[in-house]
Amino acid sequence: MTATEIPPRSGTAFTLDAGQTLTVIDPRGVQVADLLAYNRDDIREVISSGRTFDYAETIRLTTGHLLYSNRSTPMLEIVADDVGVHDFLLTPCSYDTFHHFYPDEPPHRGCFGNLAAALEPYGVTEDMIPVAFNCFMNVPIDGATGRLQVLPPVSKAGDRIVFRALMDLVIGLTACSAGASNGGSFKPIEYRID
Ligand SMILES: [Zn+2]
Repeated sequence: MTATEIPPRSGTAFTLDAGQTLTVIDPRGVQVADLLAYNRDDIREVISSGRTFDYAETIRLTTGHLLYSNRSTPMLEIVADDVGVHDFLLTPCSYDTFHHFYPDEPPHRGCFGNLAAALEPYGVTEDMIPVAFNCFMNVPIDGATGRLQVLPPVSKAGDRIVFRALMDLVIGLTACSAGASNGGSFKPIEYRID
């Protein structure tokens, strides 16, 4: 399958069958993509940062790590990763986060609004959106103080991360809308299902 483009500051949703792989590509570099996964047969089961960190015993997730659900079921496995720097701590950017960090800029519904709109046909409501797996997002943590920063992604043009589905899923995926997360410019994301 050829790659599908997600235009800048937008999002999409689609189904992914158990055994299929999802390749998320940063075609121009320095661009974040928020990823959500729901159990297609029961959308109350959803990707969980807390479960995943607990089982992985790290917050630095890359090839070989599993992404778990709130019910401790593996949903996705990272099977390839050109970048090795992703975030699973921060919630999707939203109207409220823009108001908090960029009060003088025009408001935007952000990844949160884009995910809510794209996932609505699958029965997902705003309150069912958890912390997303933020592909390529660069959030270094000071291990001594706990202070975090949001820095430009280290991904280069064409870099990708590949996930294998371990159950039948509904996926939400964005081209992130937040300035600081994306090095100050908004670029597309591409994805491919194989
Ligand atoms: Zn975002």
